Amino acid sequence: MSAPVKKNDQLTVYIEDLTHDGNGVAKVDGYPLFIQGALPNETAEVHVLKTLKNYGFAKVLDILKPSPDRVEAPCDYFKQCGGCQLQHLSYEGQLKWKENMVRNVMQRLGKIDAPVLPVKGMAEPWQYRNKAQIPFSTNDAGQVIAGFYKTKSHTIVDMDRCLIQTGEADAILSGLKKELTAIGMQPYNEASHEGMLRHVVIRTARATGEVMVVLVTKKKKFPQKEAAVASIVKLVPNVTSIMQNINSDKTNVIFGDETINLWGKDVIIDAIGDVRFEISARSFYQVNPQQTEVLYKQALDYADLQGHERVIDAYCGIGTISLFLAQKAKAVMGVEIVPQAIEDAKRNAELNGFTNTYFEAGPAEEVIPRWYKEGKEADVLVVDPPRKGCDEALLQTILEQRPKRVVYVSCNPATLARDLRILEDGGYKTQEIQPVDMFPHSTHCEAVAWLALA
Ligand code: SAH
Repeated sequence: MSAPVKKNDQLTVYIEDLTHDGNGVAKVDGYPLFIQGALPNETAEVHVLKTLKNYGFAKVLDILKPSPDRVEAPCDYFKQCGGCQLQHLSYEGQLKWKENMVRNVMQRLGKIDAPVLPVKGMAEPWQYRNKAQIPFSTNDAGQVIAGFYKTKSHTIVDMDRCLIQTGEADAILSGLKKELTAIGMQPYNEASHEGMLRHVVIRTARATGEVMVVLVTKKKKFPQKEAAVASIVKLVPNVTSIMQNINSDKTNVIFGDETINLWGKDVIIDAIGDVRFEISARSFYQVNPQQTEVLYKQALDYADLQGHERVIDAYCGIGTISLFLAQKAKAVMGVEIVPQAIEDAKRNAELNGFTNTYFEAGPAEEVIPRWYKEGKEADVLVVDPPRKGCDEALLQTILEQRPKRVVYVSCNPATLARDLRILEDGGYKTQEIQPVDMFPHSTHCEAVAWLALA
């Protein structure tokens, strides 16, 4: 098939859908055109930018009939920054779109007919991110800049404020640029590999109010250490920990291997529901704790624990879901591939006084079959895999061992649908799917499903 439109054509199109990048999708005789900034149910006049064999790109010249859900994006940097994709869609509109998206993916990719419930969203979908990783650099005029990267690039958009991060992150964004100039600390330049300060990472514990600031520097020694600590304490009065991480490599990976304490404690403490977590400079932790609680409560609800069950938590990370389940289960066994995360999980179990948890580092698809061979069985199996979904071998183990209930926490509806289909073909039936909005203004959507033996 050749493209029915060519570069520089102008035409009027109806927008049917959104891609995962937040671009509108229109079809011209079945040929998809991706249109930045256009929303579903809009009619727009567009200019074709590029055509490939199976799809093309266009830009909006005029929105002829706007979506009733279109709003003015509240953030000034929305069009340049790659952080949010959907600020031009009302929050209600976002939740509606996510619900439909999950339902369509379930039906189309998985032939799953279980009910998909309306998305659980946030009452206040702003300032929810508890972690900001801010790159520092200089502009062509030599001034200090800090902000976030442009979509799909390493160009920094200089900002003073980010509407989805906490106030502490804003204080660093707007204040530290000036302070650095005053104390003579040079930001790092990615191209020349010169300068000192590469990133500032701010982590906030929502439940306790504790704040950690991490300076990622090119070298361990820098003469402005005391002045930098004093500036941060002044800008962020509730800071409880200031750490330094050293990254001397020519890389765009944020952290290096060595982390040292500059001031205050080494960790901050947060809580999700009644479970407390210790967070260090580099530990993995969910970025929207308020919605994480909603997600985990849903998983706990679907696990339907009465107190006598043995539970396996596959892909357990630092044990967040495991500890949540341990409040209601007889025993929980968590498995995770990153050994450091398992160390965190064990420490957090101890911090909370749990004695009914067991954690092991390794690939879930190898460790869980071995557990079964050793007679460690489970009544309920919870999985929370990365975007690529569950390993095929793990799904086969589930189908062989047939735990009564499976709870699937997913960050990617497409792989969720694929895996639910495999489990349904093997004798399970999906009962219900609850999407949860963990990342307002992005196109991501988490979902929890539960299955029982048919
Ligand atoms: N349940 C955790 C983390 C989920 S993210 C939470 O809610 O916080 C998915 C996790 O799966 C990551 O921590 C990743 O390191 C881990 N992972 C990836 N592949 C794995 C595998 N094959 N076996 C076990 N864990 C794996």
